[in-house]
Amino acid sequence: KQTRQHGIIVSLQLVPYGYNQKLLISRDITRFEKIETMRRDFIANVSHELRTPLTVIGGFLETLSADEQVNTGFNKRALALMTEQTFRMQRLIEDLLILSRLENEQNKVSEKTVDVVNLLHAVLQDAESLSAGRHQIKLNVAAQDQLLGSEEELRSAFGNLISNAIRYTPDRGEITINWEKRNGQGVFWVQDSGIGIEPEHIPRLTERFYRVDSSRSRETGGTGLGLAIVKHVLNRHEARLEITSQVGKGSRFTIWFPTKRLVSAGA
Ligand code: ADP
Repeated sequence: KQTRQHGIIVSLQLVPYGYNQKLLISRDITRFEKIETMRRDFIANVSHELRTPLTVIGGFLETLSADEQVNTGFNKRALALMTEQTFRMQRLIEDLLILSRLENEQNKVSEKTVDVVNLLHAVLQDAESLSAGRHQIKLNVAAQDQLLGSEEELRSAFGNLISNAIRYTPDRGEITINWEKRNGQGVFWVQDSGIGIEPEHIPRLTERFYRVDSSRSRETGGTGLGLAIVKHVLNRHEARLEITSQVGKGSRFTIWFPTKRLVSAGA
């Protein structure tokens, strides 16, 4: 727990101590928090400043690529590569901006009712266009529920997990998206039949830029920030992520939403 008094930020932690006793540890983390805020602001500012130059570069690349006299031979290869890398940088900057907005605690999560069925159909459409027919994608919705939260953030969390499932599953693989209720909790999961993840990597996957195989991540258009974004969205919704995987068989990413975030039909 953290408390703020007269500009001083204190972290309080209760730990078991001896037999039947507890120890209260209180720490002044004001300086640490200040540095954290500076780091966040710095990343947000840099990302924001890079947006405009990239838009200009992207615009001219498009114009040059459309010019048949310019877009031939060596130029053609150079323009294609530059366009691809510009897109990559734009995705990276967008993800960094999303992450810094999510990290800002002053920016409270909205508490609207979000229709899960509509949301899942929307993410399914995105998934189908990303897969372009290369995978078999199934959607099962076992309960008609609504969630309290931010539609935009939940869409990005679900969307990131599904796009990973697609990107780490070879062609003709199967991807199943599921929504159900278990013990009063809302459960979303996406199962793929992809490359899987070695157990030692699983605890670190939600760290920024942590990748099991960076070349594969880049090749398939990854920014290395997807699961960090998912983790922040889930923290803001008091939800929990569970990852299970078998190398060479596939992975399952499950999100558990607490009962208090659920608005069930007819309730
Ligand atoms: P990236 O943009 O690299 O995919 P993420 O944060 O979304 O970044 O994921 C982090 C890493 O976790 C990925 O680089 C990949 O190694 C691994 N990963 C994520 N989802 C899957 C999946 N469905 N199957 C196998 N590996 C995955």
